[in-house]
Amino acid sequence: MNGSAQAALHEQAAVATRGQFGREVFVRAVVEVSNFCRENCAYCGMRRDNRTLARYRANHEQLADLLVHHRPASVTDVNIQAGEDPVAVREVVLPLIRTLRRETPLGVSVCLGTLSRELYVKLQSAGATIYIIKFEIDDAASYEKLEAPGTLSERLDHIHSLAGSGWNVSSGFIVGLPGQGPSDLAASLKLAGTLPLRGCSVSPFIPGEATPLAGEVVANTNWTLNCIAALRLMRPDWVIPAVSALNLADKDGYRRGLRAGANLVTMNLTPDDLRGDYVIYKRKRFIMTEERVLDAITAEGLSPSRRSLAEHYRNGVTHPAATGVMTMAVA
Ligand code: SF4
Repeated sequence: MNGSAQAALHEQAAVATRGQFGREVFVRAVVEVSNFCRENCAYCGMRRDNRTLARYRANHEQLADLLVHHRPASVTDVNIQAGEDPVAVREVVLPLIRTLRRETPLGVSVCLGTLSRELYVKLQSAGATIYIIKFEIDDAASYEKLEAPGTLSERLDHIHSLAGSGWNVSSGFIVGLPGQGPSDLAASLKLAGTLPLRGCSVSPFIPGEATPLAGEVVANTNWTLNCIAALRLMRPDWVIPAVSALNLADKDGYRRGLRAGANLVTMNLTPDDLRGDYVIYKRKRFIMTEERVLDAITAEGLSPSRRSLAEHYRNGVTHPAATGVMTMAVA
């Protein structure tokens, strides 16, 4: 779908977003605290078989100083992200969350992979309230073929169990993986709609360097944006991020994401000396700096939310899914 039908779909999604959230978008910072990963996802440059990366774990005191004393004023939440690395969870993430809880009002979300129940409890006790865990692909056979973590059913079990133990869970899926067609995307949308989520991302497939999929083609941006719009119409109440990979797929992709229903932006505060090796796709990353994020918000006539995402989830009302899941044409 493109042309006027696509414009109408995106406009409908934008209206649904404004109806629920007004013109405000949530602004969070991400810090990428470790690029060690015990998993081997075929679509990710941080997979364990990639020997070309210098692996690192950040120093939690350095990150705490940055976030406590030098964060941009617009940031209300921080997302602590890493490869699947339980050592980093214990040595970096937990002390960092405790410091942030003690010294800042920041909401804390984590994106750390499938962990033990014990670590989930420790993260929650430390003060994190949002867990980001993507299901990536709706089809169990493709999930296994792409060496995504565990099995799809285990991943979905973790999503249910996290939500059942009080986490606000956000998930996500990839658009444009090799061999995926419109019906696969409709199935991913449908699966997302069945999960106990507060938010969901849609990421365009970008062939990662030093991965088995390096020679494949980049996702179709229109498909990705149409999935964002369909997701928004399916769940007007969900928080949907504009992911930085949209800019790798299309030079105007990020802003188009905000126009198609996204309402969360993320600026990257990972220290410069570390982020060169946090390579999900390519070494030449498109870093969403404070300036780029705020420029995109302003250019779209939006404004940064003063209320944190964590506070929104604490106080917000969850609306039931819109009737008639939006599995309309996304291609
Ligand atoms: S997607 Fe996540 S779990 Fe998979 S290899 Fe990359 S960092 Fe590891």
